[in-house]
Amino acid sequence: MTNQPDSRMKVIYHEAMTDYCPPPGLFDCLPSDLLEIQMTQPERPEKLVNTASVLKRGPIGQHLDWDTARSASDEEILAFHTDSYLDRLKKAAENGEYLSASTYIYPPSLKAMYLAAGASIEAARAVISGDYKMAYALVRPPGHHAQPNEADGYCFVNNLGLAVHEALNAGYKRVAVVDWDVHHGNGTQEGFYDRDDVLTISLHMNHGSWGEGHLQTGEVDEVGKGDGEGNNLNLPLPMGAGDHAYKLTMERCVGPALRKFKPDLIFCANGQDANAFDPNGRQSVSMAGFYEMACQLKALADELCGGKIVMTQEGGYNPTYAPYCAHSIVEGLLGLPMELEDPLAFYPNDLEGGERAVEELIARHPLL
Ligand SMILES: [Zn+2]
Repeated sequence: MTNQPDSRMKVIYHEAMTDYCPPPGLFDCLPSDLLEIQMTQPERPEKLVNTASVLKRGPIGQHLDWDTARSASDEEILAFHTDSYLDRLKKAAENGEYLSASTYIYPPSLKAMYLAAGASIEAARAVISGDYKMAYALVRPPGHHAQPNEADGYCFVNNLGLAVHEALNAGYKRVAVVDWDVHHGNGTQEGFYDRDDVLTISLHMNHGSWGEGHLQTGEVDEVGKGDGEGNNLNLPLPMGAGDHAYKLTMERCVGPALRKFKPDLIFCANGQDANAFDPNGRQSVSMAGFYEMACQLKALADELCGGKIVMTQEGGYNPTYAPYCAHSIVEGLLGLPMELEDPLAFYPNDLEGGERAVEELIARHPLL
């Protein structure tokens, strides 16, 4: 047991974030009459409950300090979102409403939304204050699809966006976001698209845009605009990319971009839905792959910004494997060996395909 700040992480959580459950649906679609047995959407409480228990009961448990989340204020949420949007959310929650086929809001999810936002701001504060080098807002609902004026993909409020604003308001001059959720962090991209002080990087499955509320493509040519031109780095990877492609992307794209940008704080949108068993992703990343990415991010944070990383929980829809992946990520970030064994087999990696994809990305973005 050690108490050096390098080997401890603050985790902010609240059980009420597991008190809501989405209505039945067929992934991004409404329920189907063809099905005899309807299932709920995969964004369910079990993943968060299990992530909390694996982190508490696994080898990493002794390195974590837990705190209870508080609700954010409306004013804090307005750092990223518009007034009219927040009013719309509150009104929609009163009687329960679908904001998209996969994104349903009602009173318990509204309550969780305020707690997730508050937890994320407090995670930023834990690092800003110097008390911790790393903090993890273990939250639900996720946030990285929420745009300033649009709900999307289970997300209502961009939790990480609020944490970024907290850091900027505290005097940080240049901050970077690394989003390794399997889906494009379109909401975060949208919120900081014209900023010269926020670098947004997203590694994701090459899924393109979806629906009227999600027009961003996640392609490499979405580079930012105005003062932010060049400060948005999309890294779409082919289906089934696997551990090797993610490792290469971190090494060849994320590392060089962060070194050029020189952030004084790094944020991580920590989704585990790139894992090999996720119902919403196809990227075949294993626990060892996530561990490697976390080690790479820690090394970059140590090199560039005194090791400071603020994380928010994003997607991850296999309620057993995603929590194990979260554990290996935390082990990597804290610079500890990967002690927890992978309980599941993983798929073979497409080594050559991953290398080709990374070379193509490097050829196409001005930061690389
Ligand atoms: Zn996702």
